[in-house]
Amino acid sequence: MRTAEILRFGMFINGEFTSPGASKPMQIAFPYDRRIWAEVPEGQPEDVERAVSAAREAFDNGWGRTAPSHRGELMIRLARAIRENGERLAEMETRCNGKLLAEARSQMKASAKWFEFYAGLAEVIFGHSIPLGKKDTLDYTVREPYGVIGAIVPWNSPLLLLSYKVAPALAAGNAVVIKPAEQTPVTALEFARLAVEAGFPKGVINVVTGRGGIAGNALVNSRGVDKLAFTGGTETGRHVGRAAGANLKPVTLELGGKSPNIVFADADMDKALIGVVRGIFSAGGQTCRAGSRLLLDRNIAGSFLDKLVELASTMKLGDPLADDVQMGPIVSEQQVMRIDELVQDAAAKGANVLLGGHRVRRDDRDTLFYPPTILDNVDSSMRVLQEEVFGPVLCVLRFDDEDECLRIANDTSYGLSAGVWTQDINRALRMTANLVAGSVWVNTYREASHLVPFGGYKDSGHGRENGLEALWENTRIKNVWIDYSDETKNPFVLQL
Ligand code: NDP
Repeated sequence: MRTAEILRFGMFINGEFTSPGASKPMQIAFPYDRRIWAEVPEGQPEDVERAVSAAREAFDNGWGRTAPSHRGELMIRLARAIRENGERLAEMETRCNGKLLAEARSQMKASAKWFEFYAGLAEVIFGHSIPLGKKDTLDYTVREPYGVIGAIVPWNSPLLLLSYKVAPALAAGNAVVIKPAEQTPVTALEFARLAVEAGFPKGVINVVTGRGGIAGNALVNSRGVDKLAFTGGTETGRHVGRAAGANLKPVTLELGGKSPNIVFADADMDKALIGVVRGIFSAGGQTCRAGSRLLLDRNIAGSFLDKLVELASTMKLGDPLADDVQMGPIVSEQQVMRIDELVQDAAAKGANVLLGGHRVRRDDRDTLFYPPTILDNVDSSMRVLQEEVFGPVLCVLRFDDEDECLRIANDTSYGLSAGVWTQDINRALRMTANLVAGSVWVNTYREASHLVPFGGYKDSGHGRENGLEALWENTRIKNVWIDYSDETKNPFVLQL
């Protein structure tokens, strides 16, 4: 990718790019050196309405009734295009959000896999027949697409999280309007272009770039959208949920987390150590699944923390495009300031900073880097223990027994995920049964697969992405009741 020149994109509506110059531009900078390398339009409510109308027309004009095998074929072609363009797409993601190129590459492969998986499922969207036991009566259900799905995607894993939403939506026969995050719109636009090249009819996939408060807000309030799928912060999720409620639209909300990663004294310590580091410091902690609360059995807390600090302090921060770097910059000035604010609040209230604790300065200037940070002696008066940080900040808590451990682990408004490290199978099963979270990992952490349903309990949202569950979430059920008897019924009294 040549980055000396600025790449200018239009929005992607009804099968083509809008003219880039037609709207006010938003600039995209590489968080590593803050150089601007791309521009996209700042979409307005009228752009959203044009995209929604294009999607509706595509749906009504036949997309909703296409043969499932045909949709599957198009999706396989699109998956191939994502693989073939994987390197370029990965670099674009890294230049938008500072994610390590190695991780972005693996997410491009995973995105292709998501389309392949749901391509195969397009043909298994079966209803079922219901034996009512009534003479000369046939009853069955059909699963139908909703129509137009509005998909709002965050910046931390842009194309992969787009795939979570769009792959099952297309397999089920919906058309989509995507609003990517303002920091990371480029791969969504490239994706839409590749989709049309792969043969998707115009209007089936539309991308409106712009600000959440304007374009995103217009999408969630559009009467032409039949269902919403959102990933992002819990507060924005509440807003999206309220708008969906006001318009009586179904919505899937994949929101934040404050997930416990729990290490018992009987755990395989080397494995647990790596799991804890990967859980919070990979991707700079900018993931909803981050294991941001470390719960340690008091008997091993001292020795575990010594090793943890030693391992985490070896992490190499630097250019996310370089192969030997282990942590890139934080996505934006706003985000790094928020991380620092929460850490300083905790330090001022008595937290013990075991590692990190300040944003990185170079040549007497603040950078967008935040080092791995470990905070001990934290308590619930500190915001860092209550709020999702979305950065490389780990809070350490100690417990004496399983009951206390569960009490601490579940003492949060969130319920996205949890990790348990133990070699005692009975304990593992007790913990998985009692942790209030949508995903529980045992002796591993931050795993994901297209096969596995993912989503939250409590303030972490509702509805499920991935797995068969996401396919069903993108369909609605019609019941058909057929009376083929010659019987004449009483017109005045309805008998059940
Ligand atoms: P947001 O929740 O604000 O953004 C997520 C998406 O929603 C973006 O596409 C955003 O657009 C859009 N959006 C913002 N406001 C509205 C609105 N009023 N109506 C419709 N869509 C809207 O996340 P932020 O990027 O601001 O990050 C804030 C916090 O959210 C993070 O610190 C983190 O805690 C959490 N977060 C959680 C994620 C997860 O995976 N669960 C992912 C990202 C963030 P735009 O980018 O243009 O504002």
